[in-house]
Amino acid sequence: MSQSHRSSRISGFHKKSPAERLAIVSEFAGLGGAAAAKLSDTGNLDLDLADRLVENVVGSMNIPLGIATNMKVDGEELLIPMATEESSVVAAVCNAARQCYDAGGFTSSMSGTLMIAQIQAIGVADPHAARLRILGRRDEIKAVCDGCDPILLKFGGGFRDVEVRVLDSQGGPMLITHLIVDTRDAMGANAVNSMAEKLAPHIAEWTGGRVYLRILSNLADRRLARAHAVWPLDQIGGEAVRDGIVSAYHFADADPYRAATHNKGIMNGVSAVVLATGNDTRAVEAGAHAYAARDGRYRSLTRFEVTASGDLSGSIELPMAVGLIGGATKAHPTAQACLKILGVASAERLARVIAAVGLAQNFSALKALATTGIQKGHMALHAQNIAMMAGAVGGEIDRVARILVERGTVRQDVAQAILEDMRAAAR
Ligand code: NAD
Repeated sequence: MSQSHRSSRISGFHKKSPAERLAIVSEFAGLGGAAAAKLSDTGNLDLDLADRLVENVVGSMNIPLGIATNMKVDGEELLIPMATEESSVVAAVCNAARQCYDAGGFTSSMSGTLMIAQIQAIGVADPHAARLRILGRRDEIKAVCDGCDPILLKFGGGFRDVEVRVLDSQGGPMLITHLIVDTRDAMGANAVNSMAEKLAPHIAEWTGGRVYLRILSNLADRRLARAHAVWPLDQIGGEAVRDGIVSAYHFADADPYRAATHNKGIMNGVSAVVLATGNDTRAVEAGAHAYAARDGRYRSLTRFEVTASGDLSGSIELPMAVGLIGGATKAHPTAQACLKILGVASAERLARVIAAVGLAQNFSALKALATTGIQKGHMALHAQNIAMMAGAVGGEIDRVARILVERGTVRQDVAQAILEDMRAAAR
């Protein structure tokens, strides 16, 4: 099909089978047979299941799964499955965990498993009085919400509280009702969204306003996971390293430009475990970044201090809306295997372990930045990626990568030249 005749307007695409869709896409994009075959090889995810999880499936995209060792959380030995395409992320957790292992590893805690659903009402004539009318209906609200989800109730969850805010907005005052719901071992998006939708007509009736949005907030600040660790001075290489790490934290906490990268590093670890367990990476990321900006300035999600005995103390606190059931957690066989490796019995436990992983990740990044710089550790794997980009295959990849690292110039053009020389010499 020539470029000018290509059309993205394909009716009934969703009704076709994955193979039929792939044939259409292959023709549209001029995919060769090999590329199409790669797409349709869904590896450890059955094509039928993939087709049920999302819309318009043509294949799957595999991401490496690595295991971080040395982790100890609340005295429990853990192996951590991490799904990530970025080099050094898994190694960073192993290294950080090794350096605090003998000192006891990580301790963790959690504020609870409460999610918030929001209901937006506009055009309310007397928002402050309407607020009180809603608050006065607490028992009725509880009955409506709990009536939506008897299974959640059976597992000890359900409605916990109602809060109402009068929000000043560009369009005038809005009345925002928050339903606080314990979602136990579920991430809870669907659970609380259903409650908000069910309650919405009542809110309209009680307020005389018009209800628009009814959906959870990803700023899950009633579901904060916390972790802490002490890295002994002799394990991390002395006072200069310790002070460099503390100063790196001070930098991030004072400067959003730095904090964005600092927190991105934390999320390298967090998102890798969230993904490996079939949880919603975007939900956790949105919550983390919104929480980092909770006092009006975007700040660090971790803190580093010096203990009374001169060691390095690190802590983290961030919203962690993850579940053991719901979404892809139960459906994806790899997520199930990862949860088994972790051996977590509750969503709370999973959240706490993930917080510890985020802290470990951040420690390693700050230590590298405060000492040798981040590139040294990255180089070996990065050089392999560059070698592959230059066309190296099989045993060539390691050989080209090694030469790149030795020369200290890990660049694709250099890799290409090395590869050409290598192939010429072999002829
Ligand atoms: P879900 O609706 O699939 O499962 C939750 C339900 O499982 C509960 O409502 C309950 O009825 C039942 N359940 C069984 N055992 C339970 C136990 N031990 N604890 C708690 N509940 C138990 O999933 P969910 O967690 O409500 O929703 C998660 C999904 O919603 C994710 O896939 C996410 O991507 C998606 N989502 C996210 C957003 C967002 O983050 N903004 C919005 C919409 C949907």
